[in-house]
Amino acid sequence: MKNFIEGAWADPHSGRFDAVINPCTGEVIDTFACSDSEDVEQALTSAARAYRSWRRLPVADRARLQHKAAARMREQAAELAGLLARELGRPMAGCLTELSRSADLLDFYAEEGLRLKGEIPLHNLDGEKALIVREPVGVVVAITPFNYPITLLTMKLGAALIAGCTVVSKPSEDTPLSTLKLAELFADAGYPAGVFNVITGYGAAIGNALIEHPVTAKIAFTGGTGTGQRIGALAAAHNKHLTLELGGQSPAIVCADADISVAIPAIVRHAFANSGQFCYRVNRLYVHESIYAAFLEQLVSRTQTLTVGHPDSGADMGPLVNQKIYANSERQVQDALDKGATLLTGGRRLTGDVYDQGWFFPPTVLADTNHLMKIMTEETFGPVIGVMPFNTVEEAIDLANDSVYGLAGYVFSANLGTGLRVAESLEAGSVWINNIHRSYHDVPFGGYKQSGVGREKGRYGIEAYTELKTIYLNY
Ligand code: NAD
Repeated sequence: MKNFIEGAWADPHSGRFDAVINPCTGEVIDTFACSDSEDVEQALTSAARAYRSWRRLPVADRARLQHKAAARMREQAAELAGLLARELGRPMAGCLTELSRSADLLDFYAEEGLRLKGEIPLHNLDGEKALIVREPVGVVVAITPFNYPITLLTMKLGAALIAGCTVVSKPSEDTPLSTLKLAELFADAGYPAGVFNVITGYGAAIGNALIEHPVTAKIAFTGGTGTGQRIGALAAAHNKHLTLELGGQSPAIVCADADISVAIPAIVRHAFANSGQFCYRVNRLYVHESIYAAFLEQLVSRTQTLTVGHPDSGADMGPLVNQKIYANSERQVQDALDKGATLLTGGRRLTGDVYDQGWFFPPTVLADTNHLMKIMTEETFGPVIGVMPFNTVEEAIDLANDSVYGLAGYVFSANLGTGLRVAESLEAGSVWINNIHRSYHDVPFGGYKQSGVGREKGRYGIEAYTELKTIYLNY
């Protein structure tokens, strides 16, 4: 597929395209444009031109368009989800959920945008008022990873568009197709040319040009911590607004009095969703020593009920997206085993029959782990969890916080006081007590420490696309 710029398909300046691979079969599904700085110039110029009139459109009109785009996403969910399943390998049910959650998020932002307000302080000065107004920041560059291409884009797009910004999106080179289709859908829904552009290519090739360009007012990035650090440094050098949603290595603490019948299904669901390619997945578990053995037995038997296969097979999990992401799981398992962990299930690449052409790794549980092992300290981004026992809650909190990451945390205890005390102590942007589900649209999401800067979703997510201006009015 070509780039989508100024409301139309555009050939890349280089004339070069690269393959999009189906991670289940290794087959080429389609191609994406290998853009260069000329294409960046074209996309940003288009967004800057569109911004002049888009920012002036009444918010109610922008909200109506956003609801229309959300409705179109629901109408075309099967087609978009099919594309997502082919480029990502995730089961169809999960792809359909991503589409519906993203449409809901667009609807939420549209309504929340209608509630944006300024202020007039009560100075009570004769003949003068100070007006505090919000204005859109301008042209936004949205850079997204492969794992939830549509949701992670709509977290930025829905907030930026309703605030009056225009957008140049740069999707992952692994999963660019669904994003390109989304841009076409928005144009069909009636969005003016240039308001939402998509440019594809390798981050290293066009990242700097997108960030440094004078037209770019804000960079909204989701992806790995290393990439985010590079983007953050460059954005700072050019004084750009910035939101960073980065990696995670999220801990779950299971206390002695936890309701295991709730904790185990929640943890298994959340650790292995999207084959573990999920930023706030449960990566490591601390289980009270008095229930450790019984907990492990149930955890393993629940994990072993999960099936792995192609998107349309009804399986719970698909493959990992590419060899690099796959290799990390294999490396972390080997590292843990070398350092004395116990492999309880999974641990080896699936082969034979439908598996041979894809990067299929089974859900894997490693017990008796410690913090010298990568599985307890580095992001896995694969279907592997490490488990270790603890003695006191204070010890568990220290272990949970012994990480450069701080995206999410989880705690299970029948004593709500204990649950809340742990939640308050965890260095994380979101903490779940006594169950785990997806993050809500009306609350902020983001990371402490190396997991990010700023917040998305909720009204906080929209405010991040606005500037405050003070107007002194004398009359
Ligand atoms: P990645 O960092 O490799 O790539 C993300 C995006 O950045 C891609 O579009 C890529 O092309 C682009 N990119 C790469 N180098 C760049 C550069 N120098 N300049 C500009 N752009 C560049 O991440 P990935 O492997 O696609 O995704 C996995 C990572 O994303 C994990 O670390 C995961 O935790 C993180 N993630 C975080 C969240 C969150 O909300 N915190 C959500 C999902 C994924």
